[in-house]
Amino acid sequence: MNTRTRPTRSTTSAAPARRIAVIGAGIAGIACARTLAQAGHNVQVFEANTVPGGRMATADTAFGSFDHGAQYFTVRDTRFAQALEQTAKTMCRPWSANTVHVLDPYGRVAAAALPTGERHWVPAPGMQALPAHWATPLAVEFGTRVTGIAPDRLQPQQWQLTTEGMLGTPDAQRVFGGFVDVVLAVPSVQALQLLRASSLAPALQERMAAVSVGPCWTLLLAFPQAQQVGLPHLGPQWNAARSTHHRIAWLARENSKPGRGTIERWTVQASTAWSAEHLQDDPTRVQAKLLRAFAEVTGIRAAPAFATAHLWHQAQTLAPLGASHVWDEALRIGVAGDWCLGHRVEDAFVSGLELALQMA
Ligand SMILES: Cc1cc2nc3c(=O)[nH]c(=O)nc-3n(C[C@H](O)[C@H](O)[C@H](O)COP(=O)(O)OP(=O)(O)OC[C@H]3O[C@@H](n4cnc5c(N)ncnc54)[C@H](O)[C@@H]3O)c2cc1C
Repeated sequence: MNTRTRPTRSTTSAAPARRIAVIGAGIAGIACARTLAQAGHNVQVFEANTVPGGRMATADTAFGSFDHGAQYFTVRDTRFAQALEQTAKTMCRPWSANTVHVLDPYGRVAAAALPTGERHWVPAPGMQALPAHWATPLAVEFGTRVTGIAPDRLQPQQWQLTTEGMLGTPDAQRVFGGFVDVVLAVPSVQALQLLRASSLAPALQERMAAVSVGPCWTLLLAFPQAQQVGLPHLGPQWNAARSTHHRIAWLARENSKPGRGTIERWTVQASTAWSAEHLQDDPTRVQAKLLRAFAEVTGIRAAPAFATAHLWHQAQTLAPLGASHVWDEALRIGVAGDWCLGHRVEDAFVSGLELALQMA
């Protein structure tokens, strides 16, 4: 493989504060960037989307919001707990769904109110509020997709990034230079593509090729009918359930979460296997199939006033890297993301944090 290397940095010219690029403003990129910024570094974040959060996403509709990516998070790491306690204490609230039902394929409760033993936390007014809050003090270039990493043309001991505007916008390619360090905090497939396109870190590319991440078709449904006839809600008494139906893995009543409004809304996540089988399907077809499965599982047969299906190509890690992060000291390039450790919001936070601590 033809790979670029980076000339060794002169140690005598090393300034205490470094200019660092963080690619990706998901929870991993934000945890990394805010830790590096707190350590006094000059950090610039690049985010392809127009908002921060990545898969901690909230969709606003005329019927209220939906957490169409992560549904909640759990807290096991004391550093994650501290960060939440110090900076987002009043924003994050426990959600009563921490007792989750397990359903058989016919929607019958197979295991009632399975206690998980740990709280399910949700930021208000939506999951995206937490990364948005933590990203506020950071310098983020939104709508800016990084397409290449190369030695800086003016200062070859540093890095420059080539970027393009969001899909559908006619932004010209731009170049941002002068970075001593670069962090890739993007899903493993995108990180691998970027390293390959830039002919960088072949050994790391090989390790990352073993990471596997599955897709998830997600259906969002709103039923204002219940409110219109004065009912608290339609269908089942439970608010969240894992399902063994061959199409559906998880479903939750969005309006049961704190600070979300009262109109009955459901988020339905298809299983990884079913999503993988239906990757190429038309969203309307997927929507119809998942809606039928939803009716079987919940008994709600009313027509939704709002329905849409969204495909997450990189949703859930199936085989992680097995290390919290990777930092290549010679190249001064690092990778972080949930896929390093697992498939949870907290894994992403810990990965970004650990990388920043090693770099800082
Ligand atoms: C449907 C679904 C349900 C989930 N449910 C839960 C749950 O209930 N609980 C839980 O703990 N976790 C859940 N997760 C997982 C959780 O959302 C993730 O673990 C976590 O959000 C990942 O954060 P991250 O920063 O590693 O990656 P991401 O959130 O994917 O962030 C990566 C960011 O990089 C940006 N990006 C990518 N390529 C580029 C580029 N070239 N240039 C610039 N920017 C780029 C992306 O736009 C994105 O914003 C769920 C995920 C999905 C999809």
